[in-house]
Amino acid sequence: MEGPREQVTQRKTIGIDDLPIRDELKGKSPYGAPQLDVPVQLNTNENPYPLPEPLVARIAERVAEAARGLNRYPDRDAVELRTELARYLTRTTGHPVARENVWAANGSNEVLQQLLQAFGGPGRTAIGFEPSYSMHALIARGTGTGWISGPRDEDFRLDLAAAEQAIAENAPDVVFVTSPNNPTGTAVEAETVVALYDAAQAAKPSLVVVDEAYVEFSHRASLLPLVEGRPNLVISRTMSKAFGAAGLRLGYLAAHPAVVDAVQLVRLPYHLSAVTQATALAALEHTDTLLGYVEQLKAERDRLVAELRAIGYEVTESDANFVQFGRFDGAEGSHAAWRKILDRGVLVRDNGVPGRLRVTAGTPEENDAFLDAVRELKKEQNA
Ligand SMILES: *Cc1c(COP(=O)(O)O)cnc(C)c1O
Repeated sequence: MEGPREQVTQRKTIGIDDLPIRDELKGKSPYGAPQLDVPVQLNTNENPYPLPEPLVARIAERVAEAARGLNRYPDRDAVELRTELARYLTRTTGHPVARENVWAANGSNEVLQQLLQAFGGPGRTAIGFEPSYSMHALIARGTGTGWISGPRDEDFRLDLAAAEQAIAENAPDVVFVTSPNNPTGTAVEAETVVALYDAAQAAKPSLVVVDEAYVEFSHRASLLPLVEGRPNLVISRTMSKAFGAAGLRLGYLAAHPAVVDAVQLVRLPYHLSAVTQATALAALEHTDTLLGYVEQLKAERDRLVAELRAIGYEVTESDANFVQFGRFDGAEGSHAAWRKILDRGVLVRDNGVPGRLRVTAGTPEENDAFLDAVRELKKEQNA
């Protein structure tokens, strides 16, 4: 009989690549920022404020209510939740959104995965303009969708002419636009998105997905009104950032009702648990309080930008709850700086953009700790 010891030994000798795994997954590692236990964690763009106690109590109430019905499958179409998300979007964008325009899943990553399952897949391609959110490429790979890395200009802005050319040349099936972009922070103009949409329709036609994970932190209005008259345009949103609920796993999209019908062809039945739906509904009851934290974080983001510049760093314009800064000496320089900041108890993100790092806006105290660390780093660099 094989005991636990033999099984452990087996683990050592048999790796992923020894399994009959899909070729494109061979030699790959899973996505994820290091989750290190340090005092100041400013690396994954989370909201630093825990949910307020009245909301925690309300979640407990709504989850208890949901628990009484857990012997049954949840509402497969999440009707109440989609209705409330539509109400939130209408209220904050001024553009009328109905439940039929909204779809929700376990994080916007799942929303994006469902979109690629329905509109990408083997024999099809998706394009993103990099550096951008690396999950777009990874979800493409996971769904067998070919990935095309589109260009950006030297200041990390979307270069419209170059992007239009890449779309015309490759005729992708799906186009990702991230606004505000992660990890750079900059938002995209509405006219640019319209031009990309037109280019994508002329080339294919293709689905254009605007990832607005950080839009609540932006100086600019949401691009959501652009869905009017553009059935191939999708706006993707999340409760992970502005709502301070990364642990909830709730993302959603707004689009033409036909897009919502399309993702239902690939979603797993009952994908959103009754507990998730109840928790998200409770959070939506407290929208005003949560958006109050967003205002504080925007002020802290602006302070980070100003102070980083005063210290002598180059900072990319940010419409998000994080700031990209540098410049360090290439990829090695940014990694060395990341390590030195970590040695001072502050975890930031090295997204692999050579010469740059990304810091999430935290509480005023956390941001002070970060600023102290990079001030010392600058002194060392200048010494
Ligand atoms: C954080 C982030 C998301 C959020 O993903 P969830 O699955 O909703 O937590 C989506 N898009 C971008 C660009 C992000 O940075």
